[in-house]
Amino acid sequence: MNYADSARIKAVLTNCWFLYTENKKNADIIIFDTCSIKQKSEDKITGKLKETLPHQKIRITWCMIQHNLRNQKITEKELPENLKRGNFLGSLQTKNPEIVGITADEVNEFRNNPSPDKVVGINNAFNPLFYTLKKKQANIELFWRIDDTGFLPLILQKLGYQIHHDTETTNEYSKIIPEWFNTSMNNHKKTAYIPISSWCNQFCSYCIVPYARGLEKHYPKEQIIEEAKRHLASGCKEIVLLGQIVNKHPEFIEILKTILSLDGLEWLRYTSPYPNFYTPELLFLHETENKLCPHIHIPFQSGSNTILKAMRRGYTVEQAKEFIKNIRSLKRKISITTDMIVGYPDETEEDFQASLDLAKYGNFDMIYIGIYSPRPGTFAHKNHPDTIDRATKRERRNRLNELLKSISKANNDQEIGQIKKAIVDKIHDQEIYGYTDNMKQIIIKNKSDSKINVGNFINVRITKAIPFKLYWEIVENS
Ligand code: SF4
Repeated sequence: MNYADSARIKAVLTNCWFLYTENKKNADIIIFDTCSIKQKSEDKITGKLKETLPHQKIRITWCMIQHNLRNQKITEKELPENLKRGNFLGSLQTKNPEIVGITADEVNEFRNNPSPDKVVGINNAFNPLFYTLKKKQANIELFWRIDDTGFLPLILQKLGYQIHHDTETTNEYSKIIPEWFNTSMNNHKKTAYIPISSWCNQFCSYCIVPYARGLEKHYPKEQIIEEAKRHLASGCKEIVLLGQIVNKHPEFIEILKTILSLDGLEWLRYTSPYPNFYTPELLFLHETENKLCPHIHIPFQSGSNTILKAMRRGYTVEQAKEFIKNIRSLKRKISITTDMIVGYPDETEEDFQASLDLAKYGNFDMIYIGIYSPRPGTFAHKNHPDTIDRATKRERRNRLNELLKSISKANNDQEIGQIKKAIVDKIHDQEIYGYTDNMKQIIIKNKSDSKINVGNFINVRITKAIPFKLYWEIVENS
C-alpha cells in the first residue's frame, strides 16, 4: 500500500514541477511515507530522520502521524462553529481547498483568539508528534494526512512555496492516478498496484490500522477500471489490487471480471483478502480465469478458537479449515500463503499446537510469522496484558518456522518437472531471479548467451527445490 501511496505523492509533486531523485543526498526535500503497524516501523523512521542533512526539509505522512494524531483530543470549544468535526482521528476533513495547511502560529493565534468566521486547517495543526519531533529535528517542515495528498500544492503554497500545479487539485485520493511504473515495487516495473479501498472497520484486537488509518472507504469501480486501463495501455503487465480487506469491496467481482477482460493484462492479483468475505463466485473465478493468479494470501493468524475470539477475528478454526478445503477442491491448484501471530496474550501451548495443526492442514507455501507485540491504543493493549515472555514467543516462532520449512520443501518438490510461466525480476552475475504466477520465487542459472531481460515473461521447468525457493531452467521465451 505504501508503494501505491508514494506513487501518488510523487504524481502530485511532479505535477507541481518538483523533480524526483532516488539519491537521498541530492534531495532538498525528503518525504517519509510511514507505516506504524509495528513499533519497529516507527522506530526505524526516528532513526532515519537522524540521517538527514540539516538543510534538507522533511515531510512526513501516513500511519505514524495519523496514529499519533488520534491521541490528541480536540474539544468542540476549540473549533469554530462553521467547521465540521472530523473523523475519530481528530483531524478535520474538508473538500474546501481554503481549509488546508494551517501553520502552528495560526493554530496558536486561533486558540488564543477563536473566531467562528476564521477557517482552521488540518495537517500540522493538531499533531503533538509534530512539535515533539520538531524540537529534536528542526528541519521537519510538514506533516500531512495521506488523504490530503491532492491538496499538497495548496498546502505548500501556504507554507510559502511559489509553485504552480498543472492540473486541478482534488482531495479525492482515488482520483490521483500515478504513472504505473512508479507504483511498482519490483525491479521489472511491469506491475501496477491499485488501491481499491483503504483502511479498515474490522478492529481486530491487536491491530492499529483502524486507529492509524481510519474507517474503511471503497473507491468507485469506474476510477479503478480507468486506472487499470491507463496502466495497461502504458505497458504494465501485472495488476495487483490493494485493500486492507480487498474482497470486501461491494463490486469486487465486477472489478476483477472487467480487469480480466482488458487487453494487455498478463496477471491479476489482489491482497489482502479476509476469510469471511470470500464468495463461491470469487473461488470460481480462480478456477476458471487463467489470468487470475493461482495464489491466495489469506491471513488466518491463529489456529486456536480461544485466541481467534480474543483477537476478534470473527471466524472459527473450523470455518478457516472449511475455507481451505473449498480452495483445495477447486480444479485448478492454488498456492495458499498466510499470516500467523505467535505469543498472543494467554496463548497456551495447546493454543499454539492448534496453530501448528492449522499450518499442517493448510499446507501453506509461506507463513509470514509475527511475534505478538502490543500496540498502544489497540483493544488488546488496553485489555489483554502481554503475558507471554519473549523466550517463549521466539521458541514458538522457531517451531512454526521449522514446520513451515518442511511443508514448503515438500510442496516445492511436487513441482519438479512442471513447466510454468514466470517473470524475470533481477539478473545478477550468473543468476536470473523472478517469480511464477503462484508466487514462487525462482532462480535460474543464467547462460552467458541468454537473451533474457528483466521484465520478460519466460516459460521455465523446475529442476530442484529448496524451502521457499525453486531452481528452474528456461524452456522457451514466451
Ligand atoms: S482486518 Fe484486522 S488485521 Fe487486517 S487491517 Fe483490519 S483490523 Fe487490521
